[in-house]
Amino acid sequence: MSNWLNKIRSNSKGIIYILFVYIIAQFLWWEILMVRQNNALLEEKQKVLELTISDTERLQAEIDKLQESKIQKTYMVVGEGTIFLLLLLYGINLIRKANRKEHELLDQKNNFLLSITHELKTPLATTKLQLQTLKKHQLAHEKQQELIEIAINENERLNSLIDNVLLATRMQENEYHMAKERVDLSDLITKIATASYRSSLESGNLKLIIEPSVLCEIDKLAFPSILTNLVDNAFKYSGELMNVEIKLKKKSSGIVLEVSDRGMGIKDSEKNRIFDQFYRSGSEETRKTKGTGLGLFIVKYLIEKHGGTIAVKDNSPNGSVFEIHLN
Ligand code: ADP
Repeated sequence: MSNWLNKIRSNSKGIIYILFVYIIAQFLWWEILMVRQNNALLEEKQKVLELTISDTERLQAEIDKLQESKIQKTYMVVGEGTIFLLLLLYGINLIRKANRKEHELLDQKNNFLLSITHELKTPLATTKLQLQTLKKHQLAHEKQQELIEIAINENERLNSLIDNVLLATRMQENEYHMAKERVDLSDLITKIATASYRSSLESGNLKLIIEPSVLCEIDKLAFPSILTNLVDNAFKYSGELMNVEIKLKKKSSGIVLEVSDRGMGIKDSEKNRIFDQFYRSGSEETRKTKGTGLGLFIVKYLIEKHGGTIAVKDNSPNGSVFEIHLN
């Protein structure tokens, strides 16, 4: 299906380019013809003048006038033509850009459908397998707990994936309404981290560097999505070496929240695009990590709804730092 779509797309692209080249060539040819026709007309006029005027001085003056009007008309045709050609090229460029954007969006949506199907099926299949194993075999208590733990984790993953999709849909319809209240952000971050990343905190893969009692006006329900999307990404794109930090501090300019990792980092050319809906770097084939391209879109939307900003920087010596500024 996608091969078929790609074929139609690349064929229609080719036809559009041929059409544009044809229009430009036609136009240049029209200009040349206009100038030639003009010159031929003036030559005819000159011949008539030579036949009708005997006074050589007057004849020369009339011929000079003709030459002048020939130059003026040539300038007029070339000038008008050039402006028209520039407008045409500008229009073509706009169409080309819109076309490219549309194709990119279509590709991203296709990738999203592929990945969401995969993302939904994997936790379901894993949970089914754990339950079937528990049903079939008489396992030791410890092993049972291990399987139940995996099933619960998968269930949570599925839950947060569906939350993300629902959130993104509500945002697109502009139906997301903030309910801001004054909260102790230091406390809230610690609670979310302890509930969602207990084992990472215990193993030292996640560190909290939180200034105490930082107060902030935020939506308590939306905030966990911001933090967990950033921390999940930090782990997901870290590879083997997991060294994730959440830092919170109050500065004179406002509140700064940072989520940093020592992972693969983000190319400069992609730093702006990663916040677009459905955007995932690389192609679906080469991508090893799971995801839908919704996480950062949601984070940015929620931060901006809070009147804040988010930016991504390189971490040293490697990895990324997502820096949020809130008031
Ligand atoms: P997803 O993780 O589901 O692909 P996101 O919107 O959360 O979607 O992220 C968009 C893209 O940004 C990811 O596909 C990944 O390429 C890049 N990205 C996000 N966070 C990080 C990070 N901490 N390190 C490296 N790349 C990242």
